[in-house]
Amino acid sequence: MPWDLVSVVLANDLNRMTDEQLLETRLCDLPLSIEGTPLELRVARLYEEIGARDLRFKPHVWLSEEWFTPDQVPGFAIPFYLAHPRLVKLERAQMLEVEGGTERECLRIMRHEAGHAIDNAFHLHGRKRYRELFGSFRNPYPDWYKPEPNSRDYVLHLPAWYAQAHPAEDFAETFAVWLAPGSRWRRQYMGWPALKKLNYLDEVMREIEGKAPVNKSRVRAEDLPEIETTLREHYRNKKKHYAFQWPPNYDRDLLRIFSSEPRHESSPSAVSFLRRQRRALCYEVAEGTGVHNYAIDQKLAHMINRCRELNLRMSLTPEHTRQKTLVLLTVQTMSGLHSGYHRIAL
Ligand SMILES: [Zn+2]
Repeated sequence: MPWDLVSVVLANDLNRMTDEQLLETRLCDLPLSIEGTPLELRVARLYEEIGARDLRFKPHVWLSEEWFTPDQVPGFAIPFYLAHPRLVKLERAQMLEVEGGTERECLRIMRHEAGHAIDNAFHLHGRKRYRELFGSFRNPYPDWYKPEPNSRDYVLHLPAWYAQAHPAEDFAETFAVWLAPGSRWRRQYMGWPALKKLNYLDEVMREIEGKAPVNKSRVRAEDLPEIETTLREHYRNKKKHYAFQWPPNYDRDLLRIFSSEPRHESSPSAVSFLRRQRRALCYEVAEGTGVHNYAIDQKLAHMINRCRELNLRMSLTPEHTRQKTLVLLTVQTMSGLHSGYHRIAL
């Protein structure tokens, strides 16, 4: 790192750095900590929620690249960007959204991670009934999963039907639903096979009430001060992880919305229409499918390029065009989910 950059970082003034300067910085050189930030208060809230259930358990937390709970560790990592507003801004510029950026969303994810952590702390996945209800914790993680949006065998908590990804995720999601303050899971899941899992989890939590964890490890994996990659490399990898495999040929679908016929020559171009709607369309499809904004935006970017290559123009009313585009993008996004997409690391 050039000397002037080192001095800016050491001066603890991330606010003065440009995006370019930040991207040149290594993660280990970021002057960050959880203490003294709003993140500390959110962790305290999580501890209160767990304490309110008479559980003697406080998962330890540390900063790393992403949200994750390492194997056999009763604590979890929080992504570094949440520890500084300047990095939240960079995250949004790079990824188009900030996972865990609001207090509400942050607590949702923390409850999920706390589910993994308590599982490890009390070695719950070693129990026979756990295996019967959730499946084997030791199953290898798939590279992708095919969610069934209508399934009632799983709770709904994080986006993209994440409980369906793996037995350990199913348990963590079930814990998160159980833990949430004011959770009305008994009523909400009445008649769902998923209720069996919630009832079992409730029983287990009553059983370990007031007990000290069996696993007291304070191990931190991929702790921020150990990560020597630059933010530029970090974001390059992260984008690659979130990118969809794009289906080969959907020109036909585009031609149902836009037109290349001479009689529409004087209509506005498909490119300008899609560009104007880009942000809103991404947001709506992300809301509906739980898929990462970045992945959807990539699809739209691809769509815009293809429209330019085919020289497509509008042939329907703006409302009708918008509606059809929304449907196409949603269908494409869902089929992307089915052909391999994994939203959250662990
Ligand atoms: Zn998880």
